[in-house]
Amino acid sequence: MEHSKCPNYDSCKLINSTDVVNTQEERDHYIRNYCITEEQVWYECKRYQIKAELDFCPDFVLPDNVLTTEEIMERFDNDIFDID
Ligand code: SF4
Repeated sequence: MEHSKCPNYDSCKLINSTDVVNTQEERDHYIRNYCITEEQVWYECKRYQIKAELDFCPDFVLPDNVLTTEEIMERFDNDIFDID
């Protein structure tokens, strides 16, 4: 069966850096379940959804993240202004 690859695959930081997940095992888990799959399930990925909505996706957002967009933006803002 043909596999479908997320349109963001080549630019997604989960794939191309260690900023989102730092083990290959974890990365492979998400690739298998969201990024390259037999059906197009990448649209269920929270990183895909947030990128489509905001045109960027914070590093802490994982594909199975259950936060709302508002909660993600709030955490992103708090992280930026959380200067110790
Ligand atoms: S499915 Fe999600 S994690 Fe995978 S490449 Fe697309 S946006 Fe990135």
